[in-house]
Amino acid sequence: MPEFPEHTRRQMLAGSAVSILAMPAATAANAAYKASDDTFPYEVTRSEAEWREMLGEAAYQIMREGGTEQQRSSPLWNETGAGEYNCKGCDLKIYDSRWKTVIEDKGWLFFTHGEPNALLLGIDWPEGADPSDAKYDVVASVETHCRRCGSHMGHYFIVDGRLLQCINGISLNFEPAEA
Ligand SMILES: [Zn+2]
Repeated sequence: MPEFPEHTRRQMLAGSAVSILAMPAATAANAAYKASDDTFPYEVTRSEAEWREMLGEAAYQIMREGGTEQQRSSPLWNETGAGEYNCKGCDLKIYDSRWKTVIEDKGWLFFTHGEPNALLLGIDWPEGADPSDAKYDVVASVETHCRRCGSHMGHYFIVDGRLLQCINGISLNFEPAEA
């Protein structure tokens, strides 16, 4: 299980904004998981054109191509209100606010749990890795996606000793609880 803060801290120390963003982007470019060519029989399916039109290009790149949004680009990253986080692709409830934790120096959404039966797992290989070579297994990330429509959510990472899901806010709609 890759330790998320190790990557980030090392790249921050290098002092390059480009390298900070290069980690998630490189992962995305080599993602083994891609919603658009997965043959799993999802309950909700759409053509690529329909997905693009529905989601818009930015969300399409993340949710259907396995990309990673920029840090703090989603207004939900530090949302702390009570409510539900639903898949933008099919409206399935994926997370509850009770499982959300804000990690100030990261800028993505972090959850300790997903809704039971809402998520499926995939594998994302780091840049340059050969998926058929077992030596890369320890550096491959556990990817999570919606079980109803296959849209990419994010990854599991170990952050400060806790196993957390690091999620793209653009993949979710937040519905505040009734006051
Ligand atoms: Zn979905």
